[in-house]
Amino acid sequence: MTPGGEAGLNYLCAGLRAYFGHVDPYMRTMAGLLSQGRPANEIMDILRMEEAKPADRFVHAERNDPCPCGSGRKYKKCHGAA
Ligand SMILES: [Zn+2]
Repeated sequence: MTPGGEAGLNYLCAGLRAYFGHVDPYMRTMAGLLSQGRPANEIMDILRMEEAKPADRFVHAERNDPCPCGSGRKYKKCHGAA
């Protein structure tokens, strides 16, 4: 949807929505890095860590800790949500 709700853009918007749905976890991770004053390209290190150790960083996360995925949200509000 465009802010104005223009007609005729639904096809494009559906494609964009699928694209953003796919990249959203990465965008959130980068936004989290930037909000912590860290360079967004640290996402490459994070992705490498995730490939090497899929769930290890989440095992010891406390519910009120920042989520290990780097989203900047608390673990209980992110990957720790029920
Ligand atoms: Zn998370």
